[in-house]
Amino acid sequence: MNPETKTCQNCKNEFTIESDDFSFYEKMKVPPPTFCPECRMIRRLVWRNVRSLHRRECGLCHKILISMYSDDGAPVYCTECFNGDEWDIFAHAQDIDWSKNFLAQIYELFKLQPRVYQYRIGTVINSDYGNSVVNSKNAYLCFSVLDSEDVMYSENIDRSRNSIDCLSVQDLDQCSWNIISNKNYNCHFLVSSHSCIDSYFLYDCVNCQNCCLSTNQRNQQFVFKNKKLSKEEYQEAINNLYLDTYEGFEKAKKEFNIFYKNAIHKYAGIIASQNALGDIISNSKNIYKSYDVSDSCEDIRYSNRIIKSKEMFDCSFVLSGELVYECLSASGNTFKQICSIFCLGSKNIEYSLFCKNSSDCFGCVGLKNAQYCILNKQYSRDEYFIFVDKIKKFMTENLYIDSKGRKYTYGEFYPFEFSPYHYNETLALDNFPIGKEEALTLGYPWKEREDRSHAITLVVDNVPDSIHEVSESILTEVIACSNGGNQEYQCTTAFKIMPAELQFYKQKNLPLPRYCSNCRHYQRLIYKNSMQLYTRQCMNGCGNTFQSTYAPNRPEKVYCEACYQKEVS
Ligand SMILES: [Zn+2]
Ligand SMILES: [Zn+2]
Ligand SMILES: [Zn+2]
Repeated sequence: MNPETKTCQNCKNEFTIESDDFSFYEKMKVPPPTFCPECRMIRRLVWRNVRSLHRRECGLCHKILISMYSDDGAPVYCTECFNGDEWDIFAHAQDIDWSKNFLAQIYELFKLQPRVYQYRIGTVINSDYGNSVVNSKNAYLCFSVLDSEDVMYSENIDRSRNSIDCLSVQDLDQCSWNIISNKNYNCHFLVSSHSCIDSYFLYDCVNCQNCCLSTNQRNQQFVFKNKKLSKEEYQEAINNLYLDTYEGFEKAKKEFNIFYKNAIHKYAGIIASQNALGDIISNSKNIYKSYDVSDSCEDIRYSNRIIKSKEMFDCSFVLSGELVYECLSASGNTFKQICSIFCLGSKNIEYSLFCKNSSDCFGCVGLKNAQYCILNKQYSRDEYFIFVDKIKKFMTENLYIDSKGRKYTYGEFYPFEFSPYHYNETLALDNFPIGKEEALTLGYPWKEREDRSHAITLVVDNVPDSIHEVSESILTEVIACSNGGNQEYQCTTAFKIMPAELQFYKQKNLPLPRYCSNCRHYQRLIYKNSMQLYTRQCMNGCGNTFQSTYAPNRPEKVYCEACYQKEVS
């Protein structure tokens, strides 16, 4: 089929449904989308709150939990209770009401059925303060963590150990402030750098050891400010930075930012991949307009944070899935899911939320090991398929119309207003930052942060400058964040230093932070482009054009693949 241009229902911009898209829609038996790829991404991301955690009580065992849900009526259960047999998962089963919109019926069920308090998969040990943790141990205030141990304050962190304050990283050990980097050891403040050892403040460096404040380096040792030094000269230069002090560290960071701006930036972070368009893609093929895709992915379009998966359109946060459309967290060897959220290890699932090890369910919430269910009610196999066909027609004839007049037919993801979160506590804000007024105009839920009344015991000016002057007593202090509650960064106004964190900084001779962990996250996000592509021309003057996440008004030197390879190798 020929590409088709449509107007997005949400932003009113034009978007194209590509020839290659139609065959997938036919295979999944869904109509083509009516929202543009960016608005579809936003619509999913408003279902992903990771940083806004709330103290809740398990509805069954009454244990105190740190939950991703504030109290919006539905009970939350701890993992043990949720997985146990102490409650009737079918207690809220509903008959299909043919006089009511079907999406509205799912929403009613969603507000009644108990939810598991956090996303956790596999064996998760001592990681209560966090969210979306998979097979990990001692992850503290970490979000989207896979197979990691002893990690703190990080997001999108895979197979890493003993690392603090990282973003979109893999296979790190003994690192802090690594961003879009992998396979580094004892490295601090590295951006888009790989296989480096004992280094500081690098951008786009590969296989470097003992390097500092440098960019676009390959296989180097003792490079300081992009100049090769002797071992002794290098050591002296490092000593003169006084990286053990906050003042020295911040001064070096300012200098790094100048090097970063003047470096050559490849148009996209695509590594060992074929036919890939997007950013932060590695070891994958046939990837289109997708971001954070890794580990042998194939045929992924309009998606983000996808690992080991194939044939997926419009998905977010999926590990091991196949034939999935418009889903979040469809992880754990899933097969064929449409418009569903966190249905683990499940197949042939549509419009369902939080179902586990289930198959052939439609419009279900919070079921386990279930089959042939609609709105949590059990049907026979024959009845199920007859009703599902009837519902799909019903959803198309009886459209859901949201508060802003957007129409949702069968095949569209849930309306914004169904999300249990507010725009400004979800990953939508991180990737598509907008203010309160704009959010409300678009009908995105927004909330003012509740006042956090932390009893501050220490202002940052009184935190010792050098890590050598910090004593154990710092562990008892409640330190005021330098951003003082700034809502843009979800600032928590105060923070504490954890014993493992103090030990890490002492061992590495690096200063303690002066901002809360949320503010630090937003400081790292500066180095990670938003998930939007712009058509640009190579700034080396070769005439090549490409699609890049670097917006046209960005100051960096952005090069095409050929020019980048020529200059940096
Ligand atoms: Zn749009
Ligand atoms: Zn803060
Ligand atoms: Zn070029």
